[in-house]
Amino acid sequence: MTTWNSGIHDRRLKEQICEIGRRVYNKGFAAANDGNISIRVGENEVLCSPTMICKGFMKPEDICAVDLYGNQIAGTRKRTSEVLLHLAIMRARPEVKAVVHCHPPHATAFGVAREPIPQCVLPEVEVFLGEIPFAPYETPGGQEFADTVLPFLKPGTNAMILTNHGTVSFGPDLEQAYWKTEIVDAYCRILILSRQLGGITYLDERKSRELLDLKKKLGFDDPRFHEESCDLCGNSAFREGYKEELPQPRAFDAPPVYPGYLQSPTYASGSATAAAPSAGLDQEALVKAITAQVLAALGQR
Ligand SMILES: [Zn+2]
Repeated sequence: MTTWNSGIHDRRLKEQICEIGRRVYNKGFAAANDGNISIRVGENEVLCSPTMICKGFMKPEDICAVDLYGNQIAGTRKRTSEVLLHLAIMRARPEVKAVVHCHPPHATAFGVAREPIPQCVLPEVEVFLGEIPFAPYETPGGQEFADTVLPFLKPGTNAMILTNHGTVSFGPDLEQAYWKTEIVDAYCRILILSRQLGGITYLDERKSRELLDLKKKLGFDDPRFHEESCDLCGNSAFREGYKEELPQPRAFDAPPVYPGYLQSPTYASGSATAAAPSAGLDQEALVKAITAQVLAALGQR
């Protein structure tokens, strides 16, 4: 039984690729003929944008089809060479049906500066994205380039920086794959602006954890839900993926060190250094103790 309800001749999906292409181009995420878009339409069939075409002006007839290994199976135009990147992601993560790759300037700037994207700053970013790993640089086009993303495709990851190149984001459909790119670039822009105003402020441990609780409740996955050893806001869930260089913060302050999501929070153990959260907890404990005493006293009467 197949769960696929379309195929390489699905005109509606070709139009959707063109529509996402227009958005990518109009947002300034892809200059000239940059960027590429794909959607999986069968067990071994993927629709993708062709090479050497402006993403803002594609027509459904321009869209090509390839198999999961990049062999062209339909279309009059030649498929993009970067589709191998899309296919590597689709093969590694079968739930991924759509991939968007482009060069959004703010996010790409982080990839060029090799500055890690801070976490625990903006609620939407925590909930929808989490850590955004950096795939190492490789000359675009070939299989070696496509394979650079493989160590970073942990469950819950849906966007990545391609070092010195651009971004790639993915999801169950084109719309969701695309809006991850929008979120990453908007966030990177906010970070750059905040730095000009004096710097970023990290959320405290309790608030950071609340966002991950919310994320879990909403049914989104995150590598921090699985990694015992990664801390709450540090860029460490992908540490073993980085063969040579783990990007180190230079432009921004290093993130605060909070225990990982699977560990108990410092404010729960009473050893918290932050005054406010522990004071809150002490008060709670005090109220509980007083209530218990009052109830006991009432019971004795
Ligand atoms: Zn590219």
